[in-house]
Amino acid sequence: MAKQMIRIYQHLDFNDVKEHTLEYGVLAGICSKCKCLDVKLDALFCPSCGTPFKYIAFQNIREHLPKMLKINEERTAVRFVDYQDFKRIEGEMKARSILG
Ligand SMILES: [Zn+2]
Repeated sequence: MAKQMIRIYQHLDFNDVKEHTLEYGVLAGICSKCKCLDVKLDALFCPSCGTPFKYIAFQNIREHLPKMLKINEERTAVRFVDYQDFKRIEGEMKARSILG
């Protein structure tokens, strides 16, 4: 076996992604739903709004690859979404809602 992490593109409902993502930066995470800061990477739910984290978006994949592999093994239901994709679509939706 030669297992590697490879990005796969999937057509997802962004409203669902937006409500259930843990955005993980350098040292701590942010809940994508309520923007609560300091969420631990192993949190299954947001400590503030209680949303279950179905997705994780790592800001820096290279740095966090070992963590990703560990989560991938331990929490098989969690899916990884690309941070850049997440931020781009979030920005587009925000712009669209402002423009009406
Ligand atoms: Zn939250």
